[in-house]
Amino acid sequence: MPVESLFPRLEALLPRVQKPIQYVGGELNSTVKSWDEATVRWALMYPDAYEVGLPNQGVQILYEILNEMPETLAERTYAVWPDLEALMRAEGVPQFTVDAHRPVRAFDVFGISFSTELGYTNMLTALDLAGIPLDAADRGEDDPIVLAGGHAAFNPEPIAAFIDAAVLGDGEQVAIAITEVIREWKAEGSPGGRDELLMRLTESGGVYVPRFYDVDYHPDGRIQRVAPNRSGVPWRVHKHTVMDLDEWPYPKKPLVPLAETVHERFSVEIFRGCTRGCRFCQAGMITRPVRERSITTIGDMVEAGIKASGFNEVGLLSLSSADHSEIGEVAKGLADRYEGTNTSLSLPSTRVDAFNIDLANEFSRNGRRSGLTFAPEGGSERMRKVINKMVTEEDLIRTVTTAYSQGWRQVKLYFMCGLPTEEDVDVLGIADLARKVIKAGREATGSRDVRCTVSIGGFVPKPHTPFQWAAQASHEVVDHRLKALKDALRGDKEYGRAIGLRYHDGKPSIVEGLLSRGDRRVGEVIRAVWQDGGRFDGWSEHFSYQRWMDAAAKAGVDVDWYTTREREENEVLPWDHLDAGLDREWLWQDWQDAVNDVEVEDCRWSPCYDCGVCPTMGTEIQIGPTGKKLLPLTVV
Ligand code: SF4
Repeated sequence: MPVESLFPRLEALLPRVQKPIQYVGGELNSTVKSWDEATVRWALMYPDAYEVGLPNQGVQILYEILNEMPETLAERTYAVWPDLEALMRAEGVPQFTVDAHRPVRAFDVFGISFSTELGYTNMLTALDLAGIPLDAADRGEDDPIVLAGGHAAFNPEPIAAFIDAAVLGDGEQVAIAITEVIREWKAEGSPGGRDELLMRLTESGGVYVPRFYDVDYHPDGRIQRVAPNRSGVPWRVHKHTVMDLDEWPYPKKPLVPLAETVHERFSVEIFRGCTRGCRFCQAGMITRPVRERSITTIGDMVEAGIKASGFNEVGLLSLSSADHSEIGEVAKGLADRYEGTNTSLSLPSTRVDAFNIDLANEFSRNGRRSGLTFAPEGGSERMRKVINKMVTEEDLIRTVTTAYSQGWRQVKLYFMCGLPTEEDVDVLGIADLARKVIKAGREATGSRDVRCTVSIGGFVPKPHTPFQWAAQASHEVVDHRLKALKDALRGDKEYGRAIGLRYHDGKPSIVEGLLSRGDRRVGEVIRAVWQDGGRFDGWSEHFSYQRWMDAAAKAGVDVDWYTTREREENEVLPWDHLDAGLDREWLWQDWQDAVNDVEVEDCRWSPCYDCGVCPTMGTEIQIGPTGKKLLPLTVV
């Protein structure tokens, strides 16, 4: 059955909304395929505005892989701003894709990628606008399968009522597998309806269907157990891991945005996973083991991506890019290739050592020397041991001295506030460190023209990390410490004016904490917030702490119990039946080590410390060196 484009109806609304260009589609490298020739159709959503959602790598990769499959199509949809939402409701225009402006409800799968839990209310808006029942239990045969992915899907329990299924881990191979299961089921005449389809997806492995599990609670509110409620459903669902990144060199044709977006560059992921073991970092824990892309594939991807898109900036992405075993060769090879062109290269710098400055020097050959970024994360030596961020004050001062003496004038430092075992003195240590950084810079340059910007994020304990058992600091504690830090810097006549301070208050972190470690009961809070007008919770101008607290009170959910309460070792956690590959005993031991200021090494360079990922997932660390070099693009 042909599906008509909604564009004529949407077009009439566009003159009345802000930034209408974001809704029109037709970007370079976007794809529109014949609806009737496809047998499986995906609508992919990043649940934020176009300007944030379009650059998302996960969505771009799946969009391309699915569209390369015969008889399969994928289109994109993003969260519409409240002005367009109001008009769509008034005029009865449903949630649409930006590619061919088809109604999202007409697709077989509505896949939503959550990098953060603060996108949950935007998912509800999209479902409601699409005409898809909010509750999975109310959906019928004509509704798509609503599928959650991304890092937040490692604990999808707070949205269990709203999704049909969730997928953990890398999406490339599992998206293809899901497509084939759906294709086969449809070719057979859709036997058993959506219930059978969900069962087939469960049995195919690696798709979590919340409705196939029951949760029992103790009288005090803790979870007693999570158990399958029908046969054939596994007790635990495992994450997916792509083992050879060179086989998946996506995106090959990066999307070029029509409207302004947060990143306007071509990003190449140079490795996946991280074994540094920073205890606060969920991404580092759930994406293990490390798998590097080879230097030649990186070079080929950069070349092809620039050719296909015309971007003049290339970012080398990963959780800690300077740790690629051949990053020196990658940096020099790319800098040589693109020297004298208008292509600039960037590397998110977080490693605190002089080598990082060599890399930054290579990458700034064609560009401006704006600033160097380091992430000590903890303000005191003790705090950095607790979080396993092995950076000494000496390392930091030595590194920034080198940076300032090589002509860099601006250094950015990232920290967190509210970390486990933190005291006021640890946060005040950030001021001391920043002063020492400026002092070192002035000595190295003989000038007062050096600056340091300190950015502070609120710490949120995350599932599948050693801090999953930790008590989150209350927003009052975080705000008190940040104020003390601000006062300390403001009162400093010698160094204060050279130090910039950026931070947010502690309240949004509490809501993120509630959603990160929440269970199925938290779903009613999300629903109530959305019903009360909650949208775009990741944006400070739209976020309302009071709305979340009112909704929690209405739903009978005690926010402190979910956030500031420390968990016992044996408490069943809402995500224990979802397997990120990490051994629970190892995580607990690492939590105990944290409390005792004991550090662990990076298993890339030191012996395996049995976190569990490699043996349980049948995976292994894959690092170079390959010894290969990047050749010039044109043979001289
Ligand atoms: S199992 Fe061992 S080698 Fe593999 S990621 Fe964990 S600690 Fe590292």
